[in-house]
Amino acid sequence: MTKLAQTPLSERLRSLVDTVQHNERTLRRFQNVELRLIGAQDFASFLDTLFSHLPREFALANVVLWLDDRAPMLLELLEPDNLHALEHAQLKTSREGGLIARSLCEDDRPWLGRPAELADDARRAFFGAVPAHVPASAILLPLAAGKGVSGYLCLGSDDPTRFGAGMATDILERFASIVTASLDNVAHRERLKQLGTTDSLTGLANRRYFDERLREELMRAVRYRAPVACLFIDIDGFKSINDSHGHQIGDRALAAVAACVRQQVRLGDTVARYGGEEFAALLQGDRSDALTVAERVRLAVENLDVRDEHGERIALSVSIGVAARVVAGSPADAMSLGQAMMDEADRAMYQAKRNGRNRIEAQADALDEQG
Ligand code: GH3
Ligand code: MG
Ligand code: MG
Repeated sequence: MTKLAQTPLSERLRSLVDTVQHNERTLRRFQNVELRLIGAQDFASFLDTLFSHLPREFALANVVLWLDDRAPMLLELLEPDNLHALEHAQLKTSREGGLIARSLCEDDRPWLGRPAELADDARRAFFGAVPAHVPASAILLPLAAGKGVSGYLCLGSDDPTRFGAGMATDILERFASIVTASLDNVAHRERLKQLGTTDSLTGLANRRYFDERLREELMRAVRYRAPVACLFIDIDGFKSINDSHGHQIGDRALAAVAACVRQQVRLGDTVARYGGEEFAALLQGDRSDALTVAERVRLAVENLDVRDEHGERIALSVSIGVAARVVAGSPADAMSLGQAMMDEADRAMYQAKRNGRNRIEAQADALDEQG
């Protein structure tokens, strides 16, 4: 006879009621988090629910989300500008992390166990290099939607026995499917938002967005007395490219230059298509940082390999104007300072044109670096 059968009926009933009540509380907690996820209006609040609300509700040591930045739906969500604004250490996109997660989750089934028992490189790729941040036990849940896995959600606990092989995972798997659906929803919302601020030919931010960011960056720069810089970039002789190869090839060259500029600046920097064949970049850094970036851009465009309709290489180059500021004053001045800096970069760009194109100019007047 089992021990349970020997205990009096009243005690058995109490334990049964306790279990039911415990399960009910658990389900209510899940429901709570799920409702927040489903209702998330943007990526930031989605992540906040996962990284702040979820661990509090379930006494987890940590929550890590790995997302595949090659998944078409997530591409825009994980745009540099977007990520810069969020800065969550628990959000990961490294290729290695994804490969490890995939090998742990055989057949896209959850993995449960003690990360400390994983091979060194596997543990580091997913849980990071700091031993104190590695949970005692963890569950890795694939976020699978129809066509494939878009990411992995990892819940970690300080209790080494909390997540282990053989544990029932159906509730957590159901939770993972709600996370997946909510992520999809949030990606669509973000996409709609971006449509109003993104240039469709180049995928860069448009001028409206750039002006908004310029104001924000200047406010920040005023507050922290941090240097800001901008580049004004104009493609040389672009009209003749259109004239000799047609608008379609012109478009292709334009998109190639845009992608090239984007690649040469840091993740947190803003690059926009400012006009027809003109780009603007807003950089965190001083004048000499900006000159370095400008030279990198100039060289990269010069080396671009864009082919015309006959497979011949099209020579491309840009002229770049640089302006930088360390600004003091009130935040209210931010916008006029920003405009003045852009005007200066624009003038410097025209100077570069006059001086022969495929070059960089920065006006070295006394006002520079003061504001
Ligand atoms: P410069 O070296 O002085 O900058 O000469 P440029 O020919 O680049 O300058 P200009 O301002 O005379 O001509 C810019 C050209 O860019 C004219 C316009 O038709 C072309 N352009 C602007 N937007 C687009 C676009 O979206 N696609 C294509 N294919 N061409 C564009
Ligand atoms: Mg122009
Ligand atoms: Mg031009």
